[in-house]
Amino acid sequence: MQERQTKQKQIIYDALKTLNHPTATEVYGWVHEAHPTVSRATVFRVLGGFAANGKALELRTAGNEIRYDYNVEPHWHGRCMTCGKLADVEAKGLPARGIEASACDEFEVQGYVLEFFGACKECREMAKA
Ligand SMILES: [Zn+2]
Ligand SMILES: [Zn+2]
Repeated sequence: MQERQTKQKQIIYDALKTLNHPTATEVYGWVHEAHPTVSRATVFRVLGGFAANGKALELRTAGNEIRYDYNVEPHWHGRCMTCGKLADVEAKGLPARGIEASACDEFEVQGYVLEFFGACKECREMAKA
């Protein structure tokens, strides 16, 4: 049992590294192809566990679906306005201490995301063709 869980985790982590900032559904699709016995619930649970243990980032950006990132170093993302894919972005000139925000209208601030938007390589090439 223990060994099976470890193997499943490894498969899911490999999917995370192979796919580019995937959603849990995309990870499941990839894993399911080679390992049909791994359930959707397992994929979602393991990804949630990775996020809780600092093994992956949960990206809560402008889209509705959470995307996962195996790169846990602080970095920024750009979202393709056509296909919704995320890419890593280098940004300069951001405040080193983070952005301070205070609550209004009884809203409790729990964090923030900064997202760049633009066009990914595939979509730019499609637009040219
Ligand atoms: Zn795109
Ligand atoms: Zn990233």
